[in-house]
Amino acid sequence: MQLITSISKMQDIARSARADGRRIAFVPTMGYLHEGHASLMREGRRCGDLLVLSIFVNPTQFGVGEDFDRYPRDMERDSAIARECGVDVIFAPSAQEMYPVGFQTYVNVEEISLPLCGASRPGHFRGVTTVVCKLFNIVMPHVALFGKKDYQQLAVIRRMAADLNMPVDVVGMPIIREPDGLAMSSRNKYLSPDERTSALCLSRSLQSARAAFHAGEREAERLKQMVQGIVTLEPAATIDYVELRHGETLEEVATVDDCTLLALAVRIGTTRLIDNCVLGEDD
Ligand code: AMP
Repeated sequence: MQLITSISKMQDIARSARADGRRIAFVPTMGYLHEGHASLMREGRRCGDLLVLSIFVNPTQFGVGEDFDRYPRDMERDSAIARECGVDVIFAPSAQEMYPVGFQTYVNVEEISLPLCGASRPGHFRGVTTVVCKLFNIVMPHVALFGKKDYQQLAVIRRMAADLNMPVDVVGMPIIREPDGLAMSSRNKYLSPDERTSALCLSRSLQSARAAFHAGEREAERLKQMVQGIVTLEPAATIDYVELRHGETLEEVATVDDCTLLALAVRIGTTRLIDNCVLGEDD
């Protein structure tokens, strides 16, 4: 396994793999790897000949006052996990390498970047699409794997790749959860033991809404109230949003169906967590 920090070296590796007819699979991450990331790497290993993992805590997707400075980082541990998952190349550039002095070009996907996390984190998706576009130009993947944990991010990246004719297959992978239901996230590290217990209200509320959907409930507003009711029972929890939207367009819906996305963002203490489900799908 190689550790590459230079953009031009990464591009040389990508070009030569392509010249040899090798299929490049790519998993972009911010590191502090867990089983969610591992599931993407394993799928990348299965469907590619050269597996590239990027680890880059991208400053442009963090707002002022967000957790950029304290986002967990552990390259040694990440390298061990990556090796175990069969990664060939870790691409871990510095912020300077990615955003040198004079940088001024951004990629913005319009409508579907606006609601949900886009509304509570203005500029977030502009940072995400910009860095993912750059990474695609550097790693030159045939296939790139993203988790449905960040459902809107996946939808925005799919839109970007389609709209800008990027020659890459964007693959969405299921949410990986802890045995008690908590969606895995690098940010779970911020939670105290009590907060970790409170955080279960996210997955629990999704489960209840899904059960109500399977029992015949089709009114978005009632499902939303059910989720809000469960989350607000937790004193440590503050709702950022609970929304039901079309699974592809992310437009609001009044009546739900199998393809409806139920997404929520909740602060547990000071930690902002997100989770979601598509009502008609199992995780
Ligand atoms: P991050 O390092 O948090 O930016 O995540 C990198 C990639 O891993 C993104 O495509 C995420 O959606 C994905 N990911 C993060 N957590 C999970 C999870 N619990 N299950 C599946 N994919 C995940």
